Amino acid sequence: MNDLENLYRQVIMDHYKNPRNKGLKGFPHVHIKNPSCGDDITVEAEIINKQVKQVRHQGSGCSICCSSASVLSELMLNKSVDEARALVSKYYAMIKGEALDHPEALEEAIVYQGVAKFPARIKCATIAWKAFEQILNGETDE
Ligand code: ZN
Repeated sequence: MNDLENLYRQVIMDHYKNPRNKGLKGFPHVHIKNPSCGDDITVEAEIINKQVKQVRHQGSGCSICCSSASVLSELMLNKSVDEARALVSKYYAMIKGEALDHPEALEEAIVYQGVAKFPARIKCATIAWKAFEQILNGETDE
């Protein structure tokens, strides 16, 4: 493992052990399960005047799934809905191993770029983001 991979692993484990914005507050939410790994996560977001004010998450699963929900919840704060959509698309492109313009816009989410080499983990790394994307699209569970 090189130094960069080691750093990325530390960021992932920190978010896994000390998740930010964990616990639901009753905002519009989406619940998604990933049966192949046991990931089960609910993401909710408060969006006011097309701006993301809060992102919360709750669930259980592997370190990739749970930590990426935590990273997402920080990255999206105070982004407009359009900015948030663009970041989700950029993240998906990274996970697929595509070259990115301005990867730094992903901030800590850049630590998941290695997932592209592990197709079995792609669902884990994107499940919270798919839930959040559905919220942006107004496709919430309630
Ligand atoms: Zn998983």
